[in-house]
Amino acid sequence: MEENMTSSSRNEPVVGIDLGGTSVAVGLVTPAGGLLECGEFPTEAGRGPEHVVQNIGRRVRSIAKSSDVPISLAGIGAPGPLDTATGMIVEMPNLGWRNLPLREMLHRELGFPVFLENDANAAAYGEFWVGAGAGSRCLVGLTLGTGVGGGIVIGGEVFRGVSDAAAEFGHMIVEIGGRRCGCGKSGCLEQYASAAAVARRAAELVAAGGSSLLADLTGGDVSLVTSEMVCRAAGEGDCLAGRVIAEAVSTLAVAVSNIVNALNPDTVVIGGGLAGAGDLLFGPLRAQVADLTFEVQCRAMHIVPTALGRCAGVIGSAGLALVRSGAGIGVTREG
Ligand SMILES: [Zn+2]
Repeated sequence: MEENMTSSSRNEPVVGIDLGGTSVAVGLVTPAGGLLECGEFPTEAGRGPEHVVQNIGRRVRSIAKSSDVPISLAGIGAPGPLDTATGMIVEMPNLGWRNLPLREMLHRELGFPVFLENDANAAAYGEFWVGAGAGSRCLVGLTLGTGVGGGIVIGGEVFRGVSDAAAEFGHMIVEIGGRRCGCGKSGCLEQYASAAAVARRAAELVAAGGSSLLADLTGGDVSLVTSEMVCRAAGEGDCLAGRVIAEAVSTLAVAVSNIVNALNPDTVVIGGGLAGAGDLLFGPLRAQVADLTFEVQCRAMHIVPTALGRCAGVIGSAGLALVRSGAGIGVTREG
């Protein structure tokens, strides 16, 4: 039986947008967190922010037309650093954008209010709302993709810190003086445990003469190695690929344990391309985190894969737009 705990003051669906460096996902989300429609298209960031905003506008109008429902609110998740209060992108290194009034531009394009959120916060919120962490009191989200994104949801609210820069788990230092990071510092988690880092590390080892299925899968061109290939090869028993995943998981376990010591969460949700490693990642990660933390912390905690995948950011951005517009979200639970 489902019980409606909080009834929303609006019934219209909300647009959720997840702006990434290579693709943009746009979807339509009900006030109860149901996904009515979701599609992706290439970002084409090189053609400038105006072009990207116009493409988003076209997609939203097309969704509105095909679903034949009124739409008057949107949320967008974008990589930080950004300012959620003013809706400004401070800097988007992957897209080369700086000091961009993204919320204002989208508002003008769509003709209704838009709320801007950090993409990893939005994804964590989606998982808290209707995903792998539904009902969590303290949830941590980690997205292992091109970089490592992080989000924290405590007591149903995104924890943003004082300048929207909390939960930057990708830049937690896991090795003093370690690998150089795109942020300008060294030894950051995302240089070890992102999908991109895993692909890079495997390519390095194969280029150095390591014997691996990856050499066959890429026809000998190691620049073509992807994290999906590394996961697949590791699953087929390839030693080099298995070693690369194991190294990434060991570093991730240190980072997750540090987070657990700081926050004592009940749920840690792992998403992004590297989550595709499945049991190869989750089995050893759970065991190593258990070794590195206190029993009282572990007993109360689940480390789980994303339930919403690429749609987490779309659903979460829409949910946060509902909350921030004052409409509130519909929360249902098994009764
Ligand atoms: Zn960094």
